[in-house]
Amino acid sequence: MRVGVLALQGTFIEHIDSLRQLSVEAPQIRLPHELDTLDGLVIPGGESTTMLRLMESFGLIQPIREMARNGLPIWGTCAGMVLLIKDISNYEMETLALMDARVKRNAFGSQVDSFEADLEIPPVGEDPFHAVFIRAPIIEEAKPGVEILSRLADGTIVAIRQNRLLACAFHPEFTDDLRFHSYFLNMVSQKPSHNNRDGVLRGSQLGS
Ligand code: GLN
Repeated sequence: MRVGVLALQGTFIEHIDSLRQLSVEAPQIRLPHELDTLDGLVIPGGESTTMLRLMESFGLIQPIREMARNGLPIWGTCAGMVLLIKDISNYEMETLALMDARVKRNAFGSQVDSFEADLEIPPVGEDPFHAVFIRAPIIEEAKPGVEILSRLADGTIVAIRQNRLLACAFHPEFTDDLRFHSYFLNMVSQKPSHNNRDGVLRGSQLGS
């Protein structure tokens, strides 16, 4: 299994370490042709506007959108999550716009307002998942077709999945708990279903 990690900026080394511990080949991705042979892609945490500008300069936006639409599983953590979401409520940004949700960037304030929390994430396992939030975004709204995987104690949504796309507001790459990475690898190893190959649900599949 080859799961690339976007390596323009941010926490890519940490993701690569976690994936390698799970015996996965995890190449660093900087150029469009490096996407070609991947089974999955991770977009790390970091600074989403910086990463977006670099993605534009390196010509990665369209190829990643295309591959997601053809069923490539993609997981974004923190800034990586922001880049996957269609609607950013408090910034003007044209993201990859692949997931039907609305996020608020830097929702908890500045760097000093970073925190850690033990989350219930049922699909990842029964034991709580210790999650690190650093200038984290939150998911203000998950649209139809988007599965909510985890919330903070106050109900704030912090992890979602939409078919072959996965996003979380925290940094599993900063802990020794590999269960979230394993969950993504499970998604990668599942073949897309015949009638819904896209990573993105089409409007007609969303129902009313
Ligand atoms: N606040 C950052 C952003 O929106 C995300 C921070 C992070 O990835 N830890 O770009």
